[in-house]
Amino acid sequence: MRLGVLGGTFDPVHNGHLAAARAAAAALRLDRVLLVPAAQPPHKANVHASAEQRLAMVEAAVAGDPLLAASRIELDRPGPSYTVDTLRALAPQGELFFICGADVLAQFTAWHRWQEILRLAKLAVVSRPGADVASPLPVLWVRGVVLDISSEDIRRRVREGRPIRGLVPEAVEAIIRREGLYRDGLAGAPG
Ligand code: ATP
Ligand code: MG
Repeated sequence: MRLGVLGGTFDPVHNGHLAAARAAAAALRLDRVLLVPAAQPPHKANVHASAEQRLAMVEAAVAGDPLLAASRIELDRPGPSYTVDTLRALAPQGELFFICGADVLAQFTAWHRWQEILRLAKLAVVSRPGADVASPLPVLWVRGVVLDISSEDIRRRVREGRPIRGLVPEAVEAIIRREGLYRDGLAGAPG
């Protein structure tokens, strides 16, 4: 099996994530893409929704799409959520493709045991507005989709009472409303 892995904070998951996963799957003929919310993202100071809430949003977002699946693997592991540990656990399931946006590629060599990540998986990089840079790393570029959507923008919109329709699946918006997420700048997020 050719298995894509899209890790992230998913705070919240949005249509950019789904488009990236689907574009990578189409370009690389992946059989499946796992969306893996980080329980404790090592590179993010402020996380707003709980890990279970972020996973629930991802589950709602992928429901009904047989190509995409939510994974709770990083919620069931204590400590910082290192991608290398996730890929080691998933390696027996098939040939791994770690999907990330171009913004992540730019920081990649700061990641925990990044060389091992490259041995465990091929890196599939999806364009992100303003973030595409040449990389000396061996990278499979997934061209063609550039969606200017970020979780940060969605959180700001909710905080300011602006609409998020069209940016997240309806089922995700329903959870955000029901749980009252992102209405204040929790966790001391600046700006
Ligand atoms: P935040 O604004 O909080 O950083 P985000 O939108 O960047 O959130 P993350 O959970 O940080 O979402 O991203 C998870 C992965 O998805 C990263 O590899 C990121 O580059 C990628 N990604 C997020 N949004 C897009 C998008 N619109 N297009 C392509 N890739 C994306
Ligand atoms: Mg991000």
